[in-house]
Amino acid sequence: MSEKYDVIVIGAGPGGYVAAIKAAKLGFKTAVIEAREAGGTCLNRGCIPAKAMIHAAEVYRSAKECERFGIHAENVTFDFEKIFEYKEETTKQLVQGVEGLFKGNGVDQIAGKGTLLPDKKVKVVSESGEQVLEAEHIILAAGSKPLILPIPGMDLPGVLTSDELFRMKSVPESLTIIGGGVISVEFATVYAELGCKVTILEALPRILPNMDKEISQNLKLILKKRGIDIHTAAAVQGVEADGDQYICKYVEKEKEQSAASQYVLCAVGRCPNTDGLFAEDATPEMNRGRVVVDEKFETSIPGVYAIGDLIFGAQLAHAASAQGIQVAEQLAGKEVSVDVNVVPGCVYTDPEIASVGITEDEAKEKGIAVKVGKFIMSANGKSLITKEERGFIKIVAEEESGVIVGAQMMCARATDMIGEFVTAVANNMTVSQLLKGMRAHPTYNEGIGEALEELEGGAIHVM
Ligand code: FAD
Repeated sequence: MSEKYDVIVIGAGPGGYVAAIKAAKLGFKTAVIEAREAGGTCLNRGCIPAKAMIHAAEVYRSAKECERFGIHAENVTFDFEKIFEYKEETTKQLVQGVEGLFKGNGVDQIAGKGTLLPDKKVKVVSESGEQVLEAEHIILAAGSKPLILPIPGMDLPGVLTSDELFRMKSVPESLTIIGGGVISVEFATVYAELGCKVTILEALPRILPNMDKEISQNLKLILKKRGIDIHTAAAVQGVEADGDQYICKYVEKEKEQSAASQYVLCAVGRCPNTDGLFAEDATPEMNRGRVVVDEKFETSIPGVYAIGDLIFGAQLAHAASAQGIQVAEQLAGKEVSVDVNVVPGCVYTDPEIASVGITEDEAKEKGIAVKVGKFIMSANGKSLITKEERGFIKIVAEEESGVIVGAQMMCARATDMIGEFVTAVANNMTVSQLLKGMRAHPTYNEGIGEALEELEGGAIHVM
């Protein structure tokens, strides 16, 4: 007889671990099966190690630039092995935290690779053998892995994925990054700060192609000023080894060009982790490698759900977690507490970038009449104090109703401040409703109040 659970979750990333804990809190007998480490990509090979390295690089830059605050720090240097250790330690602490939460909430953590079998059974294969479990409900949260471009040379030893770059204990002299999305610009920021010569090759006409155009253009200028070489509309054709260098061949403005560097990072996106996830007679409907789900995240197999990077939609940790919460709440017959359709997107560059909802251009494409309120952060007191005056906050609201439909920001602490707009968009709040709450002084948040005021007749600190 196989052990029976109410809920079995396959994968303990931010989608799976949150779904499992929420299900257990709602009274379900729950197991989570994980082939590697708890925390998934996010804690081990994604958000957390990346942000730890970004933080270290920022501290390094602040130390070098502290003279402007009257503080002397001479010969500021860094030890990359120590930065590496700090990143690993941060990750380890968070992974242990998740494991502690499983224990504390009565979730059975089962090590091994899970395969979905027919009749809501799951086979788990581990070093200690094989077992079959069954459950009333199964949540697939197996996440994703780096996508490798189907071009020549991607199997060369110096062509890395983000997983491999995280394992490097030294800073490369030079790095060419294929792709100009979020992962690319974040790695570029860190390594350029630490002395690496970075080149970005992006096939589309701009970096961060999914973001507001003004933000992409500004970021390109800022990164170029920091010495990062950026080529857009540059389609990489292949990579070749040449001595201890790798040559990326690309076509830009119909001309063949090349970029040489010590390493190449392929950062062109991620694809779902479905290897061995399904038995042949228990494969749900798929589309271009992704598991197809309905609005309840149920797959074509009744009682089997899929969330996170496995399905279509934003491949983000908080989106995966919110979907996990929705599924657990649905199973318990509770009202769903979170709006999974309002997903903030953040980029942890300096200045930070954050957005939610639609941009002005997208509103135009959709035929929605909107008004835009913009505030330039150089007129914000806190930004002046910290000398982080660069940036702006833009709010997009429906012309007639004043309902906020989107916000884009590029400024210090944008990734924290976007929360105000997520709440506004998720609750269909109007400009005047969001303006009702005063903001503390001096804070970066005052910039939000000013951008809202701009829509209501004019920002205070603007002529
Ligand atoms: P994952 O986190 O991929 O977890 C899936 C888990 O399932 C893994 O632990 C895997 O081992 C396990 N698994 C797979 N198959 C099986 C199986 N058959 N049996 C058992 N276990 C299995 N997102 C953000 O929101 N913010 C960020 O700042 C951010 N930064 C990122 C930086 C980088 C460099 C990268 C690569 C990603 C970043 N992301 C970020 C994206 C984020 O990491 C993912 O969207 C998120 O981890 C997806 O969560 P998930 O639970 O769907 O899958």
